[in-house]
Amino acid sequence: MLENKNNRTELRDLGEFGLIEQIKSRTELKNAGSVKGIGDDAAVIDCGGKLCVVSTDMLVEGVHFDLAYCPLRHLGYKAVVVNLSDIFAMNAVPQQITVSIGVSNRFSLEAIEAFYEGVYLACEHYEVDLVGGDTSSSAGGFIISVTAIGYAEKDQLVYRDTAAEHDLICVTGDLGAAYLGLQVLEREKSVYKDNPRIQPDLSGYDYIIERQLKPEARWDIIERLKENGIKPTSMIDISDGLASELIHICRASGTGCAIYEDKIPVDPATHSAAADFNLNATVCALSGGEDYELLFTVKLADLEKIKKIKDISLIGHITEKAQGMFMVTDAGASVQLTAQGWDAFLNKGDPRE
Ligand code: ADP
Ligand code: MG
Repeated sequence: MLENKNNRTELRDLGEFGLIEQIKSRTELKNAGSVKGIGDDAAVIDCGGKLCVVSTDMLVEGVHFDLAYCPLRHLGYKAVVVNLSDIFAMNAVPQQITVSIGVSNRFSLEAIEAFYEGVYLACEHYEVDLVGGDTSSSAGGFIISVTAIGYAEKDQLVYRDTAAEHDLICVTGDLGAAYLGLQVLEREKSVYKDNPRIQPDLSGYDYIIERQLKPEARWDIIERLKENGIKPTSMIDISDGLASELIHICRASGTGCAIYEDKIPVDPATHSAAADFNLNATVCALSGGEDYELLFTVKLADLEKIKKIKDISLIGHITEKAQGMFMVTDAGASVQLTAQGWDAFLNKGDPRE
């Protein structure tokens, strides 16, 4: 435990993951039905036969979203999607959600209705039912907590801690776009603040802005994998950036990894926006976050099957732990992966903090 002289531990020294570890260390699962507790994308509960998978995420105004550029309808949609993504990352299928909100009197009924329009749209798209929640007033901003509940057969669930040496590392879609979308929105917000007469210039940035404001969860990939008879050996969704999630898989599984920079999928629109912002597109993919793509490993024997599925990139392989966690750069250098994903208590000047 990190303590200073005054017997007070700063959360920023502990970090988000350190705090979760601290909470986890005091937790003991006593009920036979509690199959998996803290430490994966979702908790797993045995409901007598099928397994029930539960995940909760909280979104706080000023921390996770800014209503200056995030329409409430999009926010409602995204709040649901980020939770469903955690259920898919367990290889389970979501069926129910609960939505809890804390609102200040700054908000009108129309505003809350706009938010719920987004919630219902996501429910319709992902075939889940809104079955409850809670409503409270809030002293300041808007707070949202969504819980998603999904189901899977016992032998279908996929955890983070079961990757093995020689497994192939796969990632869906493309990475880094959501982070760059956020940079564009933040830039236009500050331009507007300085001079409200200047209209935001979002031209040419449609794709990356959509990735930030309206992410989708990869249900399609879960289906394709099933159809092709592939069960990943481990899986996680990419909410904090590729590096951070890969480190989660490797640490939990007791392995190392080697990935290749030139294999990391980055959309041309992301490359061009990264150049505009003087950012390195690979760094955005590794550390940007909010892509909500899936990162998973499969057995080497599944190579041919996985190659046939559209929108999956093979980016490297799992190694033994002693090899460490590395990325081979385009220049041929090996660099160690570090978790520079979004850590809630570290102030690195990131606009999301
Ligand atoms: P994700 O990014 O997939 O949503 P998190 O990093 O938020 O996952 O959480 C990792 C694990 O820690 C999950 O099992 C989650 O349920 C658990 N967790 C996070 N915060 C708390 C908390 N305050 N109390 C208990 N468990 C928590
Ligand atoms: Mg997750």
